[in-house]
Amino acid sequence: MKKEDVTKIIETLQKEYPESKGSLESKNSFELLVAVCLSAQCTDERVNIVTKELFKKYDTPEDFANADIKEIEKIIKPCGFYHNKAKNLKLAGQKIVKDFNGQVPEDIELLQTIPGVGRKTANVIMCDAFDNPKGIAVDTHCKRLSNKIGFSSEQEPEKVEQDLLKIIPKKYWKYVNHLFIDHGRKICRAQKPRCEDCVINSYCKFYYNSKK
Ligand code: SF4
Repeated sequence: MKKEDVTKIIETLQKEYPESKGSLESKNSFELLVAVCLSAQCTDERVNIVTKELFKKYDTPEDFANADIKEIEKIIKPCGFYHNKAKNLKLAGQKIVKDFNGQVPEDIELLQTIPGVGRKTANVIMCDAFDNPKGIAVDTHCKRLSNKIGFSSEQEPEKVEQDLLKIIPKKYWKYVNHLFIDHGRKICRAQKPRCEDCVINSYCKFYYNSKK
């Protein structure tokens, strides 16, 4: 795909979704880390309801490091996979206290040494908490749109990300994930993409092939 087409796609989506941003509520990098960990297999709306309660009781890495795991489980149960998530949040708190002086590190590699934090979560934290993108968070929407538009034919999120980083200029990295989520929810749906209503259909490989 030509560089100017890539830019056109991103800028068209920015015009279409001018308010596009993450919907997880947080006041700082640690709260965002907790919220993103809870959001695995759960909606952002539900996470926001849960974290409202959770952060009243536990709000710092120290709080989680010292917390009774059963108490965390009780609060986060509506988010699903709560045994594993509670365990990881406690371990994450302990790791941040012990190795990072109680501060979430602004470093994509160090972030991934924290229990429960993978590449996608680390990218979200670098973009949305530190405004210092080092990559593009690839979730299910981002992967699907990347495949359909023709940005990547890979299936593994980390390989899709590497393809995106090669073709998308760095100044757009922090917006791509949120734009693709908005477009994926509204138009480019997994079951039935609304291609005729899509503002980027003239650039899309899937659409082009469907018209042949
Ligand atoms: S044209 Fe269709 S497949 Fe391509 S991005 Fe738009 S909705 Fe998705």
